[in-house]
Amino acid sequence: MDFVYPPLCAGCGTMTGQPGALCAACWETVRFIERPYCDITGMPFSHDRGEGMVSPEAIANPPLYHRARAAVFHDGVARKIVHGLKYADRSDLCAMMAGWMARAGRDVIDDSDVIVSVPLHRFRLVARRYNQSAELARALSRLTGKPFLAGAMRRHRATRQQVGLGLRARQDNVRGAFSVPPVQAPRLLGMKVLLVDDVFTTGSTVEAATRALLRSGARQVDVLTFARVASQGDETLYA
Ligand SMILES: [Zn+2]
Repeated sequence: MDFVYPPLCAGCGTMTGQPGALCAACWETVRFIERPYCDITGMPFSHDRGEGMVSPEAIANPPLYHRARAAVFHDGVARKIVHGLKYADRSDLCAMMAGWMARAGRDVIDDSDVIVSVPLHRFRLVARRYNQSAELARALSRLTGKPFLAGAMRRHRATRQQVGLGLRARQDNVRGAFSVPPVQAPRLLGMKVLLVDDVFTTGSTVEAATRALLRSGARQVDVLTFARVASQGDETLYA
């Protein structure tokens, strides 16, 4: 394995002891998402509002998904890791990332029956060679023992990259982009689904995917991503 993936830090590329790990300096910069956060959206509160509290945003605009969780903020080294997974051949990072996700998403994992990943359109899949969300879902399935339903959902339109789009444009971009093939629907019927993606930005993508899953008979959809953008204002920078 070392011949294929030399043990380089996933953040800065210096030599480390084991593949898919971070050096001490990079490790220190990773901002893990910890409680207190909104019990529904998973967005951290600036001050502790107590266990089980829900943000005003989630009350004003209740999302279709049940709860969302993420391991880290999408900046610095974490952002490089996501980028490495997306555009470079760093599938060796998946195990480390899935480990962080398993820790951050313990409540939603325990409460789920099956894992589904946010699909890529096949054109983009060819360009990138593999779907990073599916790879994360597969690694998470290995860690947790929850079955991964590969191919449970399809992406119809090759949506524009979400980078640089405002919230409304993002929602329009992904509306109706996902569906569950009829042959897959029985696998989702009555299931509590854990929907996995690499980054949570505005939530438009996971909302659209959640809508498709619920329409096909899923009982509940929780969302687990590796990273999430810290605030809406950062999204054009970090998306
Ligand atoms: Zn490093």
